[in-house]
Amino acid sequence: MSALPKLILKKGKEKPFRNGHPWIFSGAVAEVQGDPLPGDVGEVYSSGGEFIGVGHLNPRSQIVCRLLSDKRVETDLSFFRERFSKARLLRSETFNPLPDAFRLVNGEGDLLPGLIIDRYGEVWVVQCLTAGMDRSKGLIVQLLVEDYQAQWVYERSDSALRHEEGLAERAGLLYGNGFPESVMIMEEGARFRVDVRRGQKTGFYLDQRANRLHLRTLSRGKRVLDCFSYSGAFSIHAALGGAKELTLVDSSQEALAAAEGHFLMNRLQDVKRQLIRGDAFEVMRELSGPYDIVILDPPPFARKRGQLPGASRGYKDLNLQALRLLEEGGLLFTFSCSHHMDWDLFQKVVFSAAVDAGRKVQLLERRGHPMDHPVNLCHPEGEYLRGFVCRVL
Ligand code: SAH
Repeated sequence: MSALPKLILKKGKEKPFRNGHPWIFSGAVAEVQGDPLPGDVGEVYSSGGEFIGVGHLNPRSQIVCRLLSDKRVETDLSFFRERFSKARLLRSETFNPLPDAFRLVNGEGDLLPGLIIDRYGEVWVVQCLTAGMDRSKGLIVQLLVEDYQAQWVYERSDSALRHEEGLAERAGLLYGNGFPESVMIMEEGARFRVDVRRGQKTGFYLDQRANRLHLRTLSRGKRVLDCFSYSGAFSIHAALGGAKELTLVDSSQEALAAAEGHFLMNRLQDVKRQLIRGDAFEVMRELSGPYDIVILDPPPFARKRGQLPGASRGYKDLNLQALRLLEEGGLLFTFSCSHHMDWDLFQKVVFSAAVDAGRKVQLLERRGHPMDHPVNLCHPEGEYLRGFVCRVL
């Protein structure tokens, strides 16, 4: 008999988990056998005694279990090795060749709930969002070093999501000596310097790679407004694509300093540009444009479902300002990275912004995650990046 703690589900609650949803909320559980500690591995059974799977348990979290497998597996080095190599296969099949910087593991989307791994050259950045992944950190580092020849492994588990697991935020070097101040990466012919220690997220917004490249193909001769620019990655691609003039807006001075550095590193020192530090909501009201392309890539406004109404007002206001500033025939690249803002609602928000701006707007494309940020269809909550490319008539 297994010594693992067990969760017994309430009657009739097993269906989503049998179908592959990895999150078991406390409300679905009838009984806990054993006395699991946060991060323990346990088994899950239906009320009728049918085995459902094994997962990371956390009695302190609302999500009391994150299922890892529907088999009776040991969650040891070979378990992680197999999951990593499946994740790696997706990346090597979809990128050819593998770029310097990509996401190797995208949590639930790679069947590793609570784990994010990003690669920047020789530096691998690990983010553990659950107690179970926190406890697996030793195995994860060992694999990255032994199988992936990581020179450095850095932890960026400084995410507020950890509080819901009863975990403190953490960041620091897990492996390697003489950690570099920053890492240089190439993204489709553009050079960027990534500050893994102090940068936002794990240092760079890898999730926008394909959208930046797309912008680049549409930028020749254009006047571009890049709102929420961070280190200027959209703008650098636009400039490499021949944009005539760029305006970058971000509230962070460090982000804008990094963006200026990126213009120089990419030999774009002569490109006409303006970098404005400030609140994009206010700055956009003071700009008069017109612009041929406006990019809106704000931080998530709705981290919880209850914040959606306020978030919608924020997105609407931004989009209204952007549409007001666009030339006829101009393009709007507008994004939301709020998990709870679904495609429908986001489209309605942009529509109501268009109505209030008095502009006729065409929807050209919907754009989301790149292929190294897969979403498990059983876990639609994993989808967060939603974007529209619109054109003003
Ligand atoms: N487009 C970027 C990522 C943007 S992340 C890229 O591709 O790399 C969101 C950015 O918005 C962050 O750099 C953050 O500093 C900035 N930000 C947050 N609130 C802001 C505000 N009110 N006004 C302007 N910038 C803001």
